[in-house]
Amino acid sequence: MVDLKGQYNGIKETVNTSIQEVLDNTAYINGPQVHEFQKELETYLNIKHVIPCANGTDALQIAMMGLGLQPGDEVITADFTFAATVEVIALLQLTPVLVDVEPDTFNIDPKAIEKAITAKTKAIVPVHLFGQAANMEAILDIAKKHNLFVIEDNAQGIGATYTFKDGTKKKTGNLGDVASTSFFPSKNLGCYGDGGAIFTNNDDLAHTIRGIVNHGMYKRYHHDVVGVNSRLDSIQAAVLRAKLPKLDVYNTARRASARKYNAAFKNIPQIEIPITHTKCEGVCDTCDCHVFHQYTLKIKNIDRDALVAHLNENNIPCGVYYPIPLHAQKAYSNSRYNEADFPVTNQLVKEVISLPMHTELDDEQIKFISQTIIDFITQ
Ligand SMILES: *Cc1c(COP(=O)(O)O)cnc(C)c1O
Repeated sequence: MVDLKGQYNGIKETVNTSIQEVLDNTAYINGPQVHEFQKELETYLNIKHVIPCANGTDALQIAMMGLGLQPGDEVITADFTFAATVEVIALLQLTPVLVDVEPDTFNIDPKAIEKAITAKTKAIVPVHLFGQAANMEAILDIAKKHNLFVIEDNAQGIGATYTFKDGTKKKTGNLGDVASTSFFPSKNLGCYGDGGAIFTNNDDLAHTIRGIVNHGMYKRYHHDVVGVNSRLDSIQAAVLRAKLPKLDVYNTARRASARKYNAAFKNIPQIEIPITHTKCEGVCDTCDCHVFHQYTLKIKNIDRDALVAHLNENNIPCGVYYPIPLHAQKAYSNSRYNEADFPVTNQLVKEVISLPMHTELDDEQIKFISQTIIDFITQ
């Protein structure tokens, strides 16, 4: 699904030099690279505060702790996402409230959010799924109206831009009260181990969060709040410093591959190509509304699982993200849910398939992958 080796070969010298610096100065934790990376990412996102941490799941949890959410508070998020999002809500003894998504973009449905709001609702967690921003303008309006926090899960969306109706553009992760991201190796900005970060423009919240990631310490050995130990190590920061300048180039390469897949599948009635909010389908050279963390098709009137098996037989990797709705997972089931509230997710889990998508895909690979799929479907 990804080609981390091919990508590394293209940046080997820079990465090696950057890692060697850490080895030479032995500041493995909180070394200068961590601080430098933080500053560079703040500039890239045009945001006031980036707080690095150990992974994207921690980032979400720490964001919620920083906002002071309390047991029993309800947090609304998407039914169709990776479990990390709902897991941390439950771990903090907040109440996850899962809602349905939009059929075209796979992102949380603002209408479903509004329906789920109660007197206990405190926050909304939109996930910018597969690399495309959720419908943030509508979500921010709802949050304002009901006085709710917006926590963006930007693990899959780093580098994407959201355009408001008035033409204002902002990077994802810079739209809500606070955001989280992951630097897991296969993410669009991945390190060579685990890593994550929290973003915010709020000075007080940033201060609170900087203490939480460090055992609740604001002054050495004074623990003012209950915190956690969540750090980005210096070697990972060194890798990220080498890769951040390439992020836009990498995302452009992903879009170019998406455009080629789209062209191959355009006239196949059983295949629905990814749809974006904007008219350009998110695949033009100049627009970065979609960064294609995943390239995900919807397969209609064909046995999706048989297609997966066929691709595996032909040594083509593929993934089903996600095969089970979160509301149907044992850990997150709740009698408040009604199957009729999740028509879109229940359908998507049967239809979606994600194809190899990375920075090193070449035309021949795309042709082989798409032709194998088309042959199976039209046989
Ligand atoms: C990857 C991911 C996470 C978790 O990130 P980790 O670094 O693996 O903890 C959270 N949310 C979403 C949507 C993700 O894709």
